[in-house]
Amino acid sequence: MAVPKRKTTPSRRGMRRSHDALKVEAFHECPNCGELKRPHNLCNACGHYNGREIVAVEI
Ligand SMILES: [Zn+2]
Repeated sequence: MAVPKRKTTPSRRGMRRSHDALKVEAFHECPNCGELKRPHNLCNACGHYNGREIVAVEI
């Protein structure tokens, strides 16, 4: 079995983990209904995209 030759120092471990933090999910306001939606995605609340209704939403 392959085994690390040296112990990972706290500094090295911290450098590796510097990229591990989660980022906040991107969001925009829907121009049609004002609901928050993900950019470049169909609005979940009203089914609009790019000024048109793509999916009919039952109310
Ligand atoms: Zn909408």
